Amino acid sequence: MTASAPSAAARPAALQHWLHSATVQRLAVFACMLLYAVAPVPDFWITQLNYIALYSLVILGLVLLTGIGGLTSFGQAAFVGIGAYSSAYLSVSMGWSPWLTVFAGLFITTLSALVVGWITLRMSGHYLPLATIAWGLSLYYLMGNVDALGKYDGIQGVPALMLGGWDVSQGRSFFVLAWGLVLLAAFGLLNLLDSRSGRAIRAMRSSVLMAEAMGVNTLRHKIGIFVLAALLASVSGWLFAHFQRTVNPSPFGLRMGIEYLFMAVLGGVGFVWGALGGAVLTKLLEDQLQVLLPKLLGTSGSYEVIVFGVVLVLVLKYLPDGMWSLVGRFLPGPARVPDWSHAPALAVRSKPAAGASVLEVQDLRKQFGGLTAVKDVSFSIQAGQIVGLIGPNGAGKSTTFNLVSGVLGLTSGTVRFRGETISGLPAREIARRGMGRTFQHVKMIPELTVLENVALGAQLRGRKGALASMLRLDRTEEQSLLREAARQLERIGMGHALFEQAGNLAMGPQRLMEIARALCSDPSLLLLDEPAAGLRHQEKQALAGVLRQLRAEGMSILLVEHDMGLVMDVTDRIVVMEFGTRLMEGTPAEVQQSPLVRAAYLGVEH
Ligand code: ADP
Ligand code: MG
Repeated sequence: MTASAPSAAARPAALQHWLHSATVQRLAVFACMLLYAVAPVPDFWITQLNYIALYSLVILGLVLLTGIGGLTSFGQAAFVGIGAYSSAYLSVSMGWSPWLTVFAGLFITTLSALVVGWITLRMSGHYLPLATIAWGLSLYYLMGNVDALGKYDGIQGVPALMLGGWDVSQGRSFFVLAWGLVLLAAFGLLNLLDSRSGRAIRAMRSSVLMAEAMGVNTLRHKIGIFVLAALLASVSGWLFAHFQRTVNPSPFGLRMGIEYLFMAVLGGVGFVWGALGGAVLTKLLEDQLQVLLPKLLGTSGSYEVIVFGVVLVLVLKYLPDGMWSLVGRFLPGPARVPDWSHAPALAVRSKPAAGASVLEVQDLRKQFGGLTAVKDVSFSIQAGQIVGLIGPNGAGKSTTFNLVSGVLGLTSGTVRFRGETISGLPAREIARRGMGRTFQHVKMIPELTVLENVALGAQLRGRKGALASMLRLDRTEEQSLLREAARQLERIGMGHALFEQAGNLAMGPQRLMEIARALCSDPSLLLLDEPAAGLRHQEKQALAGVLRQLRAEGMSILLVEHDMGLVMDVTDRIVVMEFGTRLMEGTPAEVQQSPLVRAAYLGVEH
């Protein structure tokens, strides 16, 4: 009798765990969708939701591209057009099966998105929105002027989507097909966002410099999300062509491109469910306004566009996270019970032998226009040493850091890391070779947890890409990465804060988090830029303890720091910079006694 008691008590817990599992929740959402399709809902509402499904696919792409990746596109309607026209043309004029034309559409979409993306995404910020406007306009006029595509009349008589004698391109069967695809895309997207690739995309939005220093190829990721968003739009276009049974250029113009963005921003472009809610809200609002406004104003016209414009301005001003910020905060956060007990530990790289040369900097020089920020600076670091880099503000310490870690291109000089010349390599290649760094001004992903931010540091120790993440084939590796992040956070005394939102941390813990993130890359050399700035006395002492412990484990550290107590306490040697030059180099005791250094700091003539 007593033996059965624990299992009886365990059952509700197991049931609860089961109900909380994401798979079960998602299956439940699918089941609700199927139930809705067979329930006695008026056909009008099925039709409305069919249109909303078509918008939703496009909007999911915008969540990834704009909400998460920070890239704005007004040209998504053009990609919808490519999907729609490819399928319409190939099935009407060439007699292809509509089940094949979808792939042709995806292929053409991929090619065009690669070309548009490749040209524009290497340029900074505002070129993409402008380029997507140009792209949307030119494709619209192309569709409207090509004879084979029926000019502005378009293509009529697009065949239905038949599945074994069943027409799935209308009514309730279309509802199941379209919403099935929307849900698959939404869940795939949620999986992607909660993965190694997702962290890379979010990091890129926060700071390209930081993402590159963590080993992320930001151009590749930008092009990747641009193509993925275009593919979702293309699928929507394919569905649209066979749902409407006719295509013409007007639904694929710039106005619709803007409207997609409007729906996403209204709902909350950074949130999958928020953005989809935006599509529902816009469609309902549009229907109401189309009836109401002409009555109120006494004339007919598309006045709802004006209302949308005003609403958009208000939302951007007062609810930058969209309507979702009104709803989302009341929903329980995802139950975070990461279980990494079975995850294998990550592989570690071979470390330099004690005393071996780790870093040799020779005649490093950096010019910003007329200003020479770093003038022919040389120094070196041996394995197991902590070298301090000090000097007054503006001396060129951070610039030296950025030159060594590849964040800035150098004007002249060489940097050798573990015997290999690395000057001229991009930051992510230098990171790959085992150089970890922090930033003077903390760069993180504020909306993610401390644990996830630190796991970003282990980016280069994982392999799984976006597709594996979407299909959830990355879980073992993901648990290993999170486990490593937790280990580094515990090492640095932040084991209690794993699941706190990084943006809510005070300055001190944020800096410690950056150190843990750098340690996650399994570095042989750690570059710390003012790690003690903003730390309280006790935190500084804990930091000094961590630095000594790292050195004892064979780590080499280059430390830029203003807190002289800390620098004198932990460093083996110190390089002093002033006006971009190396003023002197020596042991802490030598530096402390140097009249040159005192003069530099106190501004006394020497
Ligand atoms: P430190 O870290 O020692 O305080 P920095 O390396 O940040 O000094 O700056 C050295 C000098 O280079 C300063 O005069 C600074 O204004 C200048 N500088 C730094 N970054 C840039 C930049 N991106 N463009 C132009 N000047 C810069
Ligand atoms: Mg600095």
